[in-house]
Amino acid sequence: MNAILEVRNLKKNFDIPGGTLHAVDQISFTLAKGKTLGVVGESGCGKSTLGRILVGLLDATDGQIIFQGRDITRVKKAQRKALRREMQMIFQDPLSSLDPRLCTMELIAEPLEIFKVCPTRAELEQRVRELMDMVGISEHMMYAYPHELDGGRRQRIGIARALALDPAFLVCDEPVSALDVSIQAQVLNLLRELQRARGLTYLFITHDLSVVKHISDDILVMYMGQMVEEASSKELFRTPMHPYTQGLLSAIPVPNIHHKRRRVIMEGEITSPVNLKPGCRFAARCPHACNRCRQEQPALLELEPGHFVACHLALELRGDAAAYENTAQ
Ligand code: SF4
Repeated sequence: MNAILEVRNLKKNFDIPGGTLHAVDQISFTLAKGKTLGVVGESGCGKSTLGRILVGLLDATDGQIIFQGRDITRVKKAQRKALRREMQMIFQDPLSSLDPRLCTMELIAEPLEIFKVCPTRAELEQRVRELMDMVGISEHMMYAYPHELDGGRRQRIGIARALALDPAFLVCDEPVSALDVSIQAQVLNLLRELQRARGLTYLFITHDLSVVKHISDDILVMYMGQMVEEASSKELFRTPMHPYTQGLLSAIPVPNIHHKRRRVIMEGEITSPVNLKPGCRFAARCPHACNRCRQEQPALLELEPGHFVACHLALELRGDAAAYENTAQ
């Protein structure tokens, strides 16, 4: 595998009143060049924190990030600035992530100006036009302000800004969750086309498994800061082994009124991520929890080639997979 990014035992703790919040806990994965890793989980599971650590917006508490063969976990400010050319982020809500006082031209030109990429004004305008064309924004919108554009076009500006410096790796943090369903499909198709044309590598963060299925080569499922399952997209949808993944998959709507699918209802309270108790973090909501689950934290094990699961009962629960097969179509 031609790895562009390797993450080893990454941790991020926040000291808050009342204790330590374990936002990201022992995350490890390898991402090949030109591929997409989908990261899914509920709000607050640590997936956005993970993305922010990778692009240097937050410092890791522990662990290691190897990018293009270099350890970038604790780089100095100047090196971090240089890395911004290689790693960029697309944010969830383009309306709040774009400066409302700047027009399309100024928004897309901003990173080019900061990094002094274009020596003359004419070259800068030409590069902005190229980027607008690349992401499908017509030229007559060059001087429009964010509030004058729809959500899809605003997100296209966010993508153009992210691509302006020609990065190799993009963290896409819920890039379509603020958009209408029809616009979501357009933006996902655009991201896929750009990946094919430019060999981009994505870490695609979302809470929506039906979205991640269409764009990811591999999927990593997070629960309360930890990895609970990782597999290829196809394998995860065909044979989910962790009860949390099974619950997420069973909640995907199936557009067929005759299809009867067993829902996995996740009842119970989410346990506090502050000053964690021993045992499996999902035990309070897991329909299969036993005494061992409440005492011993399950290790992440490779139970099939390339399929990692953190659950004491994963092999027994695999039999439930048939219930989810319709979502894998
Ligand atoms: Fe459920 Fe136990 Fe597996 Fe945790 S280890 S997911 S509580 S069965």
